[in-house]
Amino acid sequence: MGKNITMELMEFIDESPSPFHAVERVRRELEAAGYRALAEGEPWSIAPGERCYVTRNGSALIAFQVPVGTWKGFLLSASHSDSPTFQIKENGELEGPENYLRLNTERYGGMLCAPWLDRPLSVAGRVLVRTAEGVESRLVKIDRDLLLIPSVAIHMNREANNGLKYDPKTDMMPLFGTVEDKGKLRAMVAEMVGAGETDLLGMDLFLYLRQRGSIWGAGMEFVSAPRLDDLQCAFGCLKGFLAAEPGESLPVYCLFDNEEVGSSTRQGADSDFLQRTLERLCAVLGADYPVAAANSFLVSADNAHAVHPNHPEYADPTHRPHLNGGVVIKHSASQRYTTDALSQAVFTEVCRRAEVPVQHFANRSDLPGGSTLGNIALAHASLYSVDIGLAQLAMHSPYETAGVMDTDYLIRAMAAYYSLSFAVDRDGRCCF
Ligand code: ZN
Repeated sequence: MGKNITMELMEFIDESPSPFHAVERVRRELEAAGYRALAEGEPWSIAPGERCYVTRNGSALIAFQVPVGTWKGFLLSASHSDSPTFQIKENGELEGPENYLRLNTERYGGMLCAPWLDRPLSVAGRVLVRTAEGVESRLVKIDRDLLLIPSVAIHMNREANNGLKYDPKTDMMPLFGTVEDKGKLRAMVAEMVGAGETDLLGMDLFLYLRQRGSIWGAGMEFVSAPRLDDLQCAFGCLKGFLAAEPGESLPVYCLFDNEEVGSSTRQGADSDFLQRTLERLCAVLGADYPVAAANSFLVSADNAHAVHPNHPEYADPTHRPHLNGGVVIKHSASQRYTTDALSQAVFTEVCRRAEVPVQHFANRSDLPGGSTLGNIALAHASLYSVDIGLAQLAMHSPYETAGVMDTDYLIRAMAAYYSLSFAVDRDGRCCF
């Protein structure tokens, strides 16, 4: 179970080396399913039964399907399109030492540095090109092994196995070529997008790992791939969204950018993108936003830490998610996760109906842990919300590991969730 959908997930990840590519990949799948693009900068006209989506910055997307009949509120999911990586600086080529040519990068997000070393890497992102009408964004993916960040040999640093510190200005610069190759990065990008070099007016370029996803283990139970956090949830929520048979709630699929750097951008969860979209939908469909919001629910979906095979001591003693153990509900007393008893109860019941196992995550009490986009999104649109994810190892490594059965569990849970008719009565009872 789960192998076919995991193969499809690996394909999805392979086609999504940057947030811009991830949104493009999702957009293509939505269009194939009959979704129509709306623009934020134009008036909307939407009929009952229609399926639409809107993008922002080319790296965030919100899709929704309007029920044919009456509806009470929104059923949402939110995941993120970005992953920790290295962004190439504006003046991206760095000459020397000797006759080496490196790329000048800075960290994007909180990555594990060591696993970026000694791996084939390349460049992906988007460039802004001058056109007769103004400027136009075009996707860039250099589809070959192009870069590598070499380790220092053990003979030169005998302390290499005793705990290294990685200095981003020294240790993490990828080797690109020799000084004779100076100017080639810009030339390659220009050629790729079919533009002259002088017409490249701006670039958002990132490193990506060339290694493809793999299913492995004695029982083929594990999957390793780049960017499982959070493309596994982005993919699983999308598939569940597309498989749903909506009831009397309006399903909404959200993919936000910049979660790994705090979400506070125009296309992040800490923007007005979600709230504005929901308000506009209500206005166009003749619904009352405060009433709809009070009958709405958000699933914030971002991967969770599995118990580590070599370091089980980092896991909380009574919250120990395992790979292939089902959907993980995340808890935090400091409300870094949005889960409370009510939202947990609703989502647990959804999973029970879908016959999907549930496990629980909480940080060990002395560890601060990470955060995600749910509570940030709620600051703009205050809704009932649960934080969930799929168990994984090596979070924020460029090559992460998860379970082959878990994507399937998430899809089934989200298909059941998106098919609900959710409402809250005046006594606070959730009916669905
Ligand atoms: Zn994440």
